[in-house]
Amino acid sequence: MLCVIDAMAPAMLERAIAAGTAPVLERLVARGRYVPDCVAAFPSVTPVCAASIVTGVSQDEHEIPGMNWFHREEHRYVEYGSSFRAAQRFGIARQLTDTVYNMNGAHLSAQTPTVFETLDDADVRTAGTTYLMYRGRHRHEPQRDTALTRVASALIRHPVMGPRELFYADIFASRATGCRSGLGMPGVRDRHTGCVSSYLVEHDLFDFLLLSLPDNDWYSHKHGPDAQVQSIGQADLQLARVMNAAGGVEEFLAEHAVIVMADHSQAPVTATIALQDELAELGVLGPTHPSRPARPPRSSEAGAGGADPQPRIAVCPSQRGAMVYALHESERDAMRASVVTLALAIDGVDLVLWLERDAHDAPREGVISSPRHGELRFAPGGSGGGNVIDPRGLRWSVEGALAAIDGTVEDGRLLTPDYPDALSRAWTALTCRTSGEVLLSAAPGFEFIDWGRQAHVGGGSHGSLHACDSLGALVLSGVALPEPEPAQWAIRDVAPLVLRHFERDRSS
Ligand SMILES: [Zn+2]
Repeated sequence: MLCVIDAMAPAMLERAIAAGTAPVLERLVARGRYVPDCVAAFPSVTPVCAASIVTGVSQDEHEIPGMNWFHREEHRYVEYGSSFRAAQRFGIARQLTDTVYNMNGAHLSAQTPTVFETLDDADVRTAGTTYLMYRGRHRHEPQRDTALTRVASALIRHPVMGPRELFYADIFASRATGCRSGLGMPGVRDRHTGCVSSYLVEHDLFDFLLLSLPDNDWYSHKHGPDAQVQSIGQADLQLARVMNAAGGVEEFLAEHAVIVMADHSQAPVTATIALQDELAELGVLGPTHPSRPARPPRSSEAGAGGADPQPRIAVCPSQRGAMVYALHESERDAMRASVVTLALAIDGVDLVLWLERDAHDAPREGVISSPRHGELRFAPGGSGGGNVIDPRGLRWSVEGALAAIDGTVEDGRLLTPDYPDALSRAWTALTCRTSGEVLLSAAPGFEFIDWGRQAHVGGGSHGSLHACDSLGALVLSGVALPEPEPAQWAIRDVAPLVLRHFERDRSS
């Protein structure tokens, strides 16, 4: 069972355990391996991380680059649900279609199989509860008569390919369990997961279950990361419910290996960056509701009033990360330079990242620029090349200001504790086909407002390259550890662990 507790911060898990509100997680930590610093993708937002968790690769391969991104071939924004207001700006129908159907069916690369697909091919009985990523080999028709499908019957009418057993909000349900998701509303989604999963346990319907508990992220966005002590306790209750269906925690663990993990963490938000406004002079493409004719952005939406310049860039906030795309290929490099210059002067922007290409347009080197510390240039060193080696054993050529990522080098070993796995995460984000030309990471405390002009001031958020929201909890119980164990665990390590577990199972 792979359980994803969205945004579970290691310090908050430890507090919940100390407070006695997470007895199941306490038991798993005590009997297994607890990793308090499993590093997320960058941007450290749920769609990018969920894709890495189920495929075991980064977005240079899986191609889901952010919470919001610009689709170059379709010349439009893709919005996966930064907020309800952001979804309204792009059209609720479009946002639902992109999130429910296109994310798995079109945006996630067909070249990167999910754990469901690989296990389905091996005839392992797969199952999944409501999770952004569900792509598998079994066909599921939408439910005909639920609250959500009644509301959105025109949209939710196509089948999807998922795991053998799929329960996705009230939209897809491979069996009648009697469980209701309540339109997938925050705060009740964990209960739906607990309900269907205990049914699956009771009826022995899976070998591999992806059990998703998303409410912790929502609660932490609203009330701040410290409040996770409560929401992790609620997640623990659902884990207890699922295990009790097998007779209890020990009975369940005697039969199942369990991985519990966060996709990323969260950090407090006290201030915002309106990147759309800051870059307005370059001509920012606004969101247009597909059912309404395009209109020029209002001054409150696109910054300075007066003449609206022709759109030349797309601005894609992903909470504490962001991307900027040049709309016209011919002015890509010039536009990138203009965006970088403006971005480095914005209060709250911690890092600005871009890719330099060679004469054949192939990636030559990445640049991580800090307004305070200057530029660090880097590229993969290849076998035997490079001048430093990172904690995951990869070689890099680095040149310039290591201070940009608070880096130190000792005996050729690069350490960047404040920006964990910085070079791999930056490189895979920059070389991702669907990423923007310029990537931004917000300083601790800051968040980019989304296209609905929403942020989580007074609460928590995530998305940056910084350690404060990049390091999640990982607990492994009954799973064989890789040899050697990585010095820096990453969320992309989990899918290979799952697959190896079932290979070993079959060969024994
Ligand atoms: Zn979140």
